[in-house]
Amino acid sequence: MALPELNLQCGRCHENPRLQIENGCKRDSPVPDRWQIGEYTFQRCPGSIVTRQSYEYIAAYNWREKGFLPNPGGWMEQPAKFVEAMGIIEREITRESKERMEEVNRRGRNA
Ligand SMILES: [Zn+2]
Repeated sequence: MALPELNLQCGRCHENPRLQIENGCKRDSPVPDRWQIGEYTFQRCPGSIVTRQSYEYIAAYNWREKGFLPNPGGWMEQPAKFVEAMGIIEREITRESKERMEEVNRRGRNA
């Protein structure tokens, strides 16, 4: 998961009021399917939806993959909220890669 590449900084939209309306920072964008991530479309600025906290959880997930935990001790010493967040991210990643694999299989069959 490469978050910095998403460049989710709603702060930049605020420099330009027209962009704010177009991007859907405060309310739904008038532009149809303004944002598209994979098969999902949004009418709201991703930078205004993704919170600092979820960003940090995803960063922590990446660190955990490298073998680092945010707090001292082992798994049992981590806050329940952290453990829960890791579970949610993991399930999403599993679901996502399963979908991707099914897509590849579907294409393979039709080729
Ligand atoms: Zn924005």
